[in-house]
Amino acid sequence: MEMNKEYDVVIIGGGPAGLSAGLYTARARLSSLLIERGVVGGQIADAELVENYPGFAEGISGFELGQLMHQQATKYGLETLLAEATGLELHGEKKVVVTTKGKFTTKALIIASGSQRRKLGITGEEEFTGKGVSYCATCDAPFFKEEPVAVVGGGDAAITEALHLAKFASRVKVIHRRSQLRATRILQEKALSESKLEFIWNTVVEEIEGKDKVKRLKLRQVTTGEKSTLDVAGVFIAIGLKPNTDYLKGGLPLDAAGYIATNEKMETGIPGIFAAGDVRLNSTRQAITAAGDGATAAIYAKRFITE
Ligand code: NAP
Repeated sequence: MEMNKEYDVVIIGGGPAGLSAGLYTARARLSSLLIERGVVGGQIADAELVENYPGFAEGISGFELGQLMHQQATKYGLETLLAEATGLELHGEKKVVVTTKGKFTTKALIIASGSQRRKLGITGEEEFTGKGVSYCATCDAPFFKEEPVAVVGGGDAAITEALHLAKFASRVKVIHRRSQLRATRILQEKALSESKLEFIWNTVVEEIEGKDKVKRLKLRQVTTGEKSTLDVAGVFIAIGLKPNTDYLKGGLPLDAAGYIATNEKMETGIPGIFAAGDVRLNSTRQAITAAGDGATAAIYAKRFITE
């Protein structure tokens, strides 16, 4: 990759949306640069097993799936830069992506920077991150063999994390702020039949306490106001996602939560700028739909450049 080279297409983000976009633009013989700040694969790189990506009947590790997608796109000429996008400069038809490793000019831009886990914002959360507070059971569950842990949240992520943790921990308490889960029925059924897993309903975590590592959680029952404590060695927070769009503020219209609105062509309000995957308003947040968004964005980016 050459600094100051002008690309046909720059793609921000190397998850399934960005990698699929890159595969399509590279195969369309457009000079294409993908910018990724972490590991290719994005959020799925953390998934132990992906069972709902078509073509892998026995499932596949998320890390491997990300690597395969990257290899496939690279084979057709996609270039990759490991850097963080920090801003956007729009000069007429030219779009300049500012990164920690220089500026890159492009005719079309595909934003596929995804989303990240939301934080609770309570005392002890930051202090004990990596010392008992985790956002990734696949990464950290083996550190809690035969120890008691808690999971916060009631969506697919929380239940998936809890089920994975049950293979390692002595017990798993799922703390949810309501009396009903948001998670898919099949995951709920699995959770209810897992003996190590228990639910603490209508409850929020107010504080995480410990010394060098997490020791206990301070809880509040939201209907009665009753306070209690729960001794745990680890707490896994799975309360949803936040779009990675801070670097676009002021450059591109975002909704109040930071998501980018698109039409069915993945076009944003600015000609030549497309968005794909979890960063998009109303994305269904699946690897397969993100990949579909990426391909759609690439097809319309090609049309934008050639027409
Ligand atoms: P989600 O579906 O938005 O669920 C977030 C959960 O966290 C909800 O139960 C919510 O409670 C709770 N929550 C939010 N803010 C909270 C707070 N401040 N304190 C306490 N609880 C809070 O998010 P997700 O589970 O991360 O899933 C995101 C997307 O990825 C979904 O589309 C999901 O289907 C997908 N996903 C799929 C799989 C899979 O198929 N295996 C696995 C992971 C994720 P309320 O219910 O009260 O709002």
